[in-house]
Amino acid sequence: MKYKNRETKHEVIEYLQSYFLGIGFQDLKELVIDKNNCVFCGTCASLCPRIGINEKEIRLLEYDPECSTCFRYCPRTYFPKDMFEKELFHDCMNKSNTLGFYKKGVVAKSNDDEILTVAQNGGVVSSLLIHALDTGLIDGVLLTDRDEKWYPKPKIARTSNEILSCSGSKYTIAPTLSIYKDAIEDLKLEKLAFVGMPCQIQAVRKLQLFSPLSEEYGKFTLIIGLYCFSNYSYDLMKLFVQGELGVSLNKVKKIDISRGKFYVYLNDGLIVAPIKEIKKYNWPSCQYCKDYCAEFADISVGSVGASRNDWNSVLLRTDIGAKLFNDAIKAKKIISSNKIDLFKIEKETLRKKIRVTQIDKQILSAIKLLKISDFEIKTYMTLMSLGNASVSILSKIMKTEEPEVRNALQKLNQREWVIAANGLYSTVNPTLVINNEIYNLRQSFFKNIKKLKTEVLTNLEALFIQNNFNHVRHDEILDLI
Ligand SMILES: Cc1cc2nc3c(=O)[nH]c(=O)nc-3n(C[C@H](O)[C@H](O)[C@H](O)COP(=O)(O)OP(=O)(O)OC[C@H]3O[C@@H](n4cnc5c(N)ncnc54)[C@H](O)[C@@H]3O)c2cc1C
Ligand code: SF4
Ligand code: SF4
Repeated sequence: MKYKNRETKHEVIEYLQSYFLGIGFQDLKELVIDKNNCVFCGTCASLCPRIGINEKEIRLLEYDPECSTCFRYCPRTYFPKDMFEKELFHDCMNKSNTLGFYKKGVVAKSNDDEILTVAQNGGVVSSLLIHALDTGLIDGVLLTDRDEKWYPKPKIARTSNEILSCSGSKYTIAPTLSIYKDAIEDLKLEKLAFVGMPCQIQAVRKLQLFSPLSEEYGKFTLIIGLYCFSNYSYDLMKLFVQGELGVSLNKVKKIDISRGKFYVYLNDGLIVAPIKEIKKYNWPSCQYCKDYCAEFADISVGSVGASRNDWNSVLLRTDIGAKLFNDAIKAKKIISSNKIDLFKIEKETLRKKIRVTQIDKQILSAIKLLKISDFEIKTYMTLMSLGNASVSILSKIMKTEEPEVRNALQKLNQREWVIAANGLYSTVNPTLVINNEIYNLRQSFFKNIKKLKTEVLTNLEALFIQNNFNHVRHDEILDLI
């Protein structure tokens, strides 16, 4: 049986534990790539020599033995969140519904002027990596560099200079993981660090924790995640910065997105554009992504939540992350304070989690067949995008009074659209919901037909014949009374 037909978590875990599944690249293509779900991380291409990657696409190069490897380790196929949380954060009691597990949230900044001049914000990412390298915690790091035209390039950095040459954000989706196998097989690195987007980190955790590849390819010692609201295709640089803004890409020093604006820093000036102008270059699958602050990283780093752009906000999640951060403070590599605005990060996280709550008008009018209110549908969609939520969280997000939300949830619960457990509601898989509704519709349809035949038709026929007895002489009709 193929993954797409599997429905229960138990079955999916079984699937993850079996190695040979008869699932191949065609399934990955149908379910991930062709459905605009691919984040172009490069994991599949790195794992399998039969899969090729170029600047635009991932494709099968030769015969596919359907060993299932590409499908299993892709970050966009099943990611057993609960299982990973138990594995990674078992000693961390602090779980926020929006930010995930973390031990502590702080703001921080590099203490090194050289790092600060090239870094995107406070240079915490580069400073921590250099400190980890200097102290022997890691022996290399997988990063995202760029060429002079801002095309992103995966890079295995093994010196502090190489780390610094990769600093700064490239707002382009990057196949950073396409070379991780080289780091392990060719360079024989044993203590690899990784810096990347939340989606890439899901692939890294799968490699690190899922057998059978975890032993050979899971040699990640430190995982630093960047906050991410959205990423873009390279067209942002080529068609917008170069094409629309008329800027030569090799003159661009830095790109930034902050407080609703897109900034292009040049050697001799700055161009600012409203963020809505670059929306059309959004990477398609980013709209379905729910992870803003890299919930599965050892340390998550961004700028939102810090009061200044030349500082970082930092969420310390695991022991490894917290220890490295505290060591770097002691060694005076970074400075830190508790003045983090967690509320701002939570707000961005929720904004991201609920961005896909709109449904197509056509679908909406078809759902009306089910005699369900717009508000109930909205509640179901909002809950679907959040994963799970309490009445009070839903009421805040939907900007509606709690009793109205509770009422909608109760109705949805009765119709088996949502389930409730420990004060949290979550959605039932739409396949089950709609099949259940179809079953109910069919039952009530047959009940109505029966009623029409037995009650309405029989009575009307009787009345008709009683009233028109003189005119009705047909045996078949007379038989009816
Ligand atoms: C696409 C993108 C979207 C982001 N969105 C947000 C956001 O919404 N809110 C927020 O607060 N912060 C966001 N960030 C994070 C922010 O831009 C900084 O990366 C973060 O604050 C760390 O700053 P720093 O000075 O410590 O980084 P630096 O020390 O300059 O290090 C930056 C690191 O980022 C890595 N990197 C750069 N580009 C990419 C890429 N395309 N893919 C993978 N890794 C990359 C480099 O390898 C480098 O190691 C985003 C970053 C990116 C790349
Ligand atoms: S998300 Fe990554 S692993 Fe999945 S198909 Fe795309 S490139 Fe391959
Ligand atoms: S929005 Fe999500 S899918 Fe897109 S780059 Fe960021 S983390 Fe990856």
